Amino acid sequence: VRVEDKLYYNRYLVDVGNPHVKVRAHTTPSPQLLSLLKVCPARCYELNDGGQVEVAVDGCIECGTCRVIAEPTGDIQWSHPRGGYGVLFKFG
Ligand code: SF4
Repeated sequence: VRVEDKLYYNRYLVDVGNPHVKVRAHTTPSPQLLSLLKVCPARCYELNDGGQVEVAVDGCIECGTCRVIAEPTGDIQWSHPRGGYGVLFKFG
């Protein structure tokens, strides 16, 4: 079973207007930020038309990978979603 197929079964309750992951404003992405385009299993990170890295947390599975890579460098801010929000795993 592909990862994408497994991710399909998860459900998310998005805390609209209160994302639990934020990317620090930048003009040129750091190497850490660029790496997030490849390592996020849910593909939450994208390059916008201006060449900056953006995050959309709708499908975030709260794996913490981006937190380990880019929070120590100050490139992102990461916190757990508020209670009741975030991912709901169907298979634990
Ligand atoms: Fe992607 Fe995991 Fe970071 Fe969520 S916590 S944005 S799934 S790398």
